[in-house]
Amino acid sequence: MQILRPVAELRRWSRKLRAAGGNTLGLVPTMGALHAGHASLIRAARTLSTHVAVSLFVNPTQFGPSEDYARYPRAFEADCALAAAEGADVLFAPAVEELYPSGPDSTFVEVPGLSDRLDGQSRPGHFRGVATVVAKLLIAAEPDRAFFGQKDAAQVAVLRRMIADLLLATEIVVCPIVRDADGLALSSRNAYLTPAQRTQALALSRSIHHVESLVAGGERRASMLLASAHGVFAAEPEVRIDYIALIDAATLEPVETAVSGTLFAVAAWVGATRLIDNAILD
Ligand code: AMP
Repeated sequence: MQILRPVAELRRWSRKLRAAGGNTLGLVPTMGALHAGHASLIRAARTLSTHVAVSLFVNPTQFGPSEDYARYPRAFEADCALAAAEGADVLFAPAVEELYPSGPDSTFVEVPGLSDRLDGQSRPGHFRGVATVVAKLLIAAEPDRAFFGQKDAAQVAVLRRMIADLLLATEIVVCPIVRDADGLALSSRNAYLTPAQRTQALALSRSIHHVESLVAGGERRASMLLASAHGVFAAEPEVRIDYIALIDAATLEPVETAVSGTLFAVAAWVGATRLIDNAILD
């Protein structure tokens, strides 16, 4: 596995493999601290592409001023080992100045509307940072496909819209949420949790199971499903709800009635750690 840092080297590599003919490139954008969720994206990329690049970049513009940019987990050596073991051909790990040559306050990509919903509402500017960095990565790498996790469901909606609006040629592939055996969705931020908080954090996945079982039993009214999800959190007073929502997965607009494909999404604070989880209802 090659480790590339300059954008120009990534572009050169991508263009060379394309010029050779018959090759396809899959890109897996990450912020590092790789876990089995990221590994599943790399494996999916591997099966759908002849070549795979994993990007590893803790993107400063998607963090708010009081958020965890400085202390976000960084594990470069372990990330290299995981990406190589999963069969990545390139690990692209640029310096901030490579992706933001004129500084972080220069040209940006904004997806209006969608960017202000769910995580965008509680993290102003977050999706502008995400859309901007992913646009840069797609322009630099020119991948045939880019792989994202369903875990970040609002991010998927924002990026789909951005790619459509900017006429980018990359196809998005969304991979299922990978969970620990007890149901907790894997996240680099789980490393922040104390053992007690980790148990409390199970309220998120529990609320999902609860809503799914109500839907399986025939309940479709959003008001009832949401009230009942709130009830799950009432039993876990240490966990502070950020949002609980039943929304259209593409527009992120609230729905009154759940149908097949409706997104149930939840975000909550466990101590100082904000966690998210979701499910597409069947
Ligand atoms: P991050 O490094 O947290 O920015 O995540 C990079 C990519 O991995 C994003 O597309 C995430 O949605 C995806 N991802 C993170 N956690 C999981 C998970 N538990 N299961 C599947 N994909 C995930």
